[in-house]
Amino acid sequence: MAFGFAQAFRTFGKLTLAGAIGAGLAAGDVGAEQKTPSPGSAKGQFGAVSLPTQGSAQPIGFYAKGCMTGAVALPTDGPTWEAMRLSRNRRWGNPAMISLLERLSEDGAKYAGWPGLLVGDIAQPRGGPMFNGHASHQIGLDADVWFTPMPARRMSAKEREDLPFTTMLQKDKFLTVDPNVWTQSRARLLMLAASYPEVQRIFVNPAIKKKMCDTWTGDRTNLGKLRPEYGHDSHFHIRIKCPAGAAGCTPQAPVAAGDGCDKSLAWWFTPAPWAPPKPPNPGAKPPKPPREMMVSDLPKACASVLDAAAVASMQAATYGGPSAASALTAAPAAEPAADPDGTLPDVGPVPNDKPAMQ
Ligand SMILES: [Zn+2]
Repeated sequence: MAFGFAQAFRTFGKLTLAGAIGAGLAAGDVGAEQKTPSPGSAKGQFGAVSLPTQGSAQPIGFYAKGCMTGAVALPTDGPTWEAMRLSRNRRWGNPAMISLLERLSEDGAKYAGWPGLLVGDIAQPRGGPMFNGHASHQIGLDADVWFTPMPARRMSAKEREDLPFTTMLQKDKFLTVDPNVWTQSRARLLMLAASYPEVQRIFVNPAIKKKMCDTWTGDRTNLGKLRPEYGHDSHFHIRIKCPAGAAGCTPQAPVAAGDGCDKSLAWWFTPAPWAPPKPPNPGAKPPKPPREMMVSDLPKACASVLDAAAVASMQAATYGGPSAASALTAAPAAEPAADPDGTLPDVGPVPNDKPAMQ
């Protein structure tokens, strides 16, 4: 890891770039609104559907190009989780994803000293591309989990909209985890998530991956599942494998053997990933903007997924049944244990948007 702060900024020239990099890093795949998609676009079509299809749960296509049937919703509340940003209607996933989140939330409280999960975006009711924020999350097998622990109370729907993201990075340094914010309980939660055989990979900021490489003293067998990626500094992104029998699901190649604390990580600490795009030659034609993804670009079955009959209600398709669906208005769950690593840091600024790679 020869490239450090000084080296990077010698290369970049200006210290103001620290802010630009920091803002870019801070966003990840939880960004702000982008411009309105055209009516026939896959984003427009899948973003307009409010309920999943009836029938069996099937991921169709690939994580970054597909859709799904038979999704179920993560209940807004459980003993060890709270779903965030409810207005986005992205609590939907394959039952395998939803049950894994519930299990992680329980195991995290039991074994990692993590009081509970704040769960961010999973997928839209029928998956597909989204208006904002993600390239993947399209087949119900990806989910974002905040690095902020669940508070020891039930937040109102408004609080869940407004709670700012907290970056794990130091704002005035290049790719450095903030030692005043990062805790061992976060490290344990990540490794617990990586330990489940069905977890395919977990995206984290390169600085967080490096922190794990430098400090994790436990079993490193699953450390390679933590993959460095832009953003992902205020949340991590869990991707699970295609469930058994999901014939229409396109698997992703497994992560390379080893802990990933190698050249592939060192690359992130070079100027290459952060270099601005080269300016076009003067007089050259401006490049065409990338074409929007249309429904016809997705696997063929996704067009009929859009047309398929919907379930009767959100409650009917909530994982665990209608009683789970009413949890937000029900009595608060038992207070979870406090984070043993100490008091929570103040929340950080709301990050700027940056389109995610994953
Ligand atoms: Zn994500």
